[in-house]
Amino acid sequence: MALRFYNTLTQRLEEFRPLDGETVRMYTCGPTVYHYVHIGNFRTFSFQDVLRRVLRMRGWKLHHVMNITDVDDKIIRNAVAEGKSLKEYTERFTQAFLEDAAKLRLERPEKLVFATEHIPDMVAAIQRLAEKRHTYESEGSTYFRIASFPEYGKLSHTNFSGNVAGARVDVDEYEKADARDFVLWKARKPGEPYWDTPLGAGRPGWHIECSVMAMQYLGETIDLHAGGEDLIFPHHECEIAQSESLTGKPFANTWIHTRFLQVDGEKMSKSKGNFYTVRDLVDGDRVDPLALRYALITVPYGKPLNFTRQTLRDAAQNVDRFRECARLADAAKARGAKGASAGFAESLRQLADEMLEAMCDDLNTSVALAKALGGTSVIFKAGDSMTAEDAPAALAFLDEVQALLGIVRPEHGAVQAPSAPQVDEERIEALIAERAAAKKARDFARADAIRAQLDAEGIELRDTPEGTHWRFKTTP
Ligand code: AMP
Ligand code: ZN
Repeated sequence: MALRFYNTLTQRLEEFRPLDGETVRMYTCGPTVYHYVHIGNFRTFSFQDVLRRVLRMRGWKLHHVMNITDVDDKIIRNAVAEGKSLKEYTERFTQAFLEDAAKLRLERPEKLVFATEHIPDMVAAIQRLAEKRHTYESEGSTYFRIASFPEYGKLSHTNFSGNVAGARVDVDEYEKADARDFVLWKARKPGEPYWDTPLGAGRPGWHIECSVMAMQYLGETIDLHAGGEDLIFPHHECEIAQSESLTGKPFANTWIHTRFLQVDGEKMSKSKGNFYTVRDLVDGDRVDPLALRYALITVPYGKPLNFTRQTLRDAAQNVDRFRECARLADAAKARGAKGASAGFAESLRQLADEMLEAMCDDLNTSVALAKALGGTSVIFKAGDSMTAEDAPAALAFLDEVQALLGIVRPEHGAVQAPSAPQVDEERIEALIAERAAAKKARDFARADAIRAQLDAEGIELRDTPEGTHWRFKTTP
């Protein structure tokens, strides 16, 4: 069963396999933490979560990096208005994002990275772009000259050759009609936060953040890059221009973009004010988080989803079906009646296979959910006559739905509850460095002991040509 995705870059459905034949190196643009993340954003993040699950079920390992954009125009505007430092302002929204993601049972990416922790790396990348003559300076800001990258436009499939040389755009977000030389480094403005760097006092533009962090953690060519449809242009187009100008290699092989969650036919967005947050719905309106998750994935990512209260009500009913099935199977086990019902296990097995097949076919969640619900009908039909011998097949089916779609029950291991202790990335990185040093000194006992220690903490190490990567061990 081939795994196929629609690649925005080639505009084709393509069979997917990671470059190294083992680990999928993927980068997803995380939230801009200037406010609570709305459920439109979470539609995109939910699809990235089911994408992770499908990739893992097909046997690939995952190395997924997600960034948190903690410096941009909107954050600065709000932080300045509240008289807060960037960090003070963004910290609570980052925390809220992680809590909301955990409520929706989104797995944590193997690595979360913060833009403000990579400023020197961004400066170095801009300097290298300058050496390669892709940039110019004007009034203390540095711009990327899009005429220096003839392939500019290849992701959004737009021809920018009529672009006026030297025309510039300073803001982080803009429309295609505004495609001009974009800003890499913005000169300091009075009253705004800034960094003193060899490029001058200022701060990075949004696009350079992702290019730098993606390549730093995942290598020069990554397998998969994803985001919502609004990121195709300008953000991802600019990421390609920057990264490929730096390396001369393809930046990402597959690009996956989620269409918008809409309200009354319009994009759900903070600026329009037509949004709900996870906390509005889950804490305020007592919506079951699994029902919200279900609702967000009802329509495949390649089609827009119009969000209504009815979508949520339907989702809640369906999520209840899975719970009821688990209860029926547990009761059957407890009753202990012998004998297997004819065709019961086979029907469920077939539905589970079809569910996975639908997901491998460009994440067709609507077919996959229909198969999952088909399984609940098989289980309901058996009902109270389900035997103890049937019960494992029912439970195994529910486990597969859970592993693939995450809508059956809160799961263990893969998701960190908000109250779970945070991982200390610095300590892990320090141990990895110590292990590398031990190996170099041929102290293999120490190197193995470090690997074993991290393993016992649920952290897995993998040695690659670009260095040692770590990730959480996840439950299948
Ligand atoms: P932002 O916090 O604006 O950087 O957005 C975080 C992610 O959510 C990005 O991948 C966006 O493309 C995506 N996104 C924003 N609005 C929506 C929406 N209404 N529906 C689906 N995805 C969205
Ligand atoms: Zn990005």
